[in-house]
Amino acid sequence: MRNNKLKLQNEKNQAMKYWITQVIKSLTEYRSSLSGLLQLSCAKSLYLIFSFGIIIFSPHYSTAQFRAAVVKVDITPESSKWLVGYGPRQSTGIHDRLYSRILIMDDGVTQFCLVQSDLCVMSPSQYDHTASMLQTRLGISPLHFWWSLTHTHAAPEVGVPGLPEIFMGERYKHEVDTAYASMLEQTIINGVIEARKHLVAARFGAGWGFSQANINRRAIDTSGKATLGMNPDGPVDRRIGLLRIEKKDGSPMALIANYPIHGTVLGDKNMQISGDAPGIVSEYVERKIGVPLLFINGAAGNLAPIYSVYPTPAAGHLNQFRVLLGDKILDANRKLTITTDTVKLSAGTLTVETPRKPGLGWSSDLGKYTNTSKKGMNMIRLPVRFLKINEDVAIWSAPLELFCEVSNEVRERSPFPFTFYFGYTNGWLGYLPTAEAWEHGGYEVETVSPYTPAAAKDLTESVLGYLLGEMRSRQ
Ligand SMILES: [Zn+2]
Repeated sequence: MRNNKLKLQNEKNQAMKYWITQVIKSLTEYRSSLSGLLQLSCAKSLYLIFSFGIIIFSPHYSTAQFRAAVVKVDITPESSKWLVGYGPRQSTGIHDRLYSRILIMDDGVTQFCLVQSDLCVMSPSQYDHTASMLQTRLGISPLHFWWSLTHTHAAPEVGVPGLPEIFMGERYKHEVDTAYASMLEQTIINGVIEARKHLVAARFGAGWGFSQANINRRAIDTSGKATLGMNPDGPVDRRIGLLRIEKKDGSPMALIANYPIHGTVLGDKNMQISGDAPGIVSEYVERKIGVPLLFINGAAGNLAPIYSVYPTPAAGHLNQFRVLLGDKILDANRKLTITTDTVKLSAGTLTVETPRKPGLGWSSDLGKYTNTSKKGMNMIRLPVRFLKINEDVAIWSAPLELFCEVSNEVRERSPFPFTFYFGYTNGWLGYLPTAEAWEHGGYEVETVSPYTPAAAKDLTESVLGYLLGEMRSRQ
């Protein structure tokens, strides 16, 4: 009886799969007949079906093969540039080159584009501009485009400063370099076009690693006052989150390594362009495995590299991060032995509203990231993104310098065994410290945070609510 029921259900599923395949096939034909007239994305095409009322589509039944492609583009500037981080400085040369790495994952229904760049910070308005270009020109929904920066402090400014101008106005008296930002946008668009041409059948896997390359940087004095320094007893996050994309035969196509560490091995005396620790580590791992590594920073708001703010690469032992972190990523990669060609991607978004620091101004390019509550309180509208991959991987991202305690707590309470936090993603809306950190003051709280002590709880509870509810129930 039970077997018969199962058999019947199986046949129903097979029939449904066949039916859906036929619809996708005819849709593909329909799309190609329109190509040249319309540049429709997969998502838009599905929207068309909805509009015509032909079928209620459930992505769960997709029989399409998981495909992926990755493109690496050199974004090193040809001329001297204003560098981000520390005081105003202009570059005088190049120590190591900067790159954007563009990964496309396609499960047959959702095409997700992750871009990682060796840059420090950018305004969310810069992300929005690039996202809207990708939507208009290539039909990619902003929901499916994430742009994450490594936070190297030896890289050029990108477009308008955004919030940093509110915190450090005297630093941004010079003209905005729009040419470099336009070049970056163009390389992303070209990179996506290129990657789409090379999508091939792929496999996916997730794993963990561990590295002690970072240290808490909030030194606490006897008075309780915090300053930038080293605090070996302070909270840290030393896990490496690893994702591997493989070709069908099991050979590597790309790695994504997620680890929180400030890009500040090189200090304010350095005038050379460099990817700092994340750049050096990526270059090293790529040489070892022969494919691109997307280094995605985590909640590094209070985490420095163990060698921090040195005047030169040699003084800062920059190359040692190849062992401290690069070899640990390679270890994690060796341990990751299970991959699958059955992949389902599902993206989501959430806006967390939390009070703005009293008396703080706001940048004119960021109107959509603030509003005023009914009680007349200025609020920040913080955009959080989510990507679920199959039933066990949950990635959340935010345009923040987040304190690691927050992402640690989310990971511990998350129902997903692989919960990763991608920081410095889709722009920068300042430091978000824990409530406890506000009692100790210091740079992150007093100078570069637009939030209040309530923000960490507001963010934690909203993100966990999403992971435990909406995201867990998504098919
Ligand atoms: Zn920082």
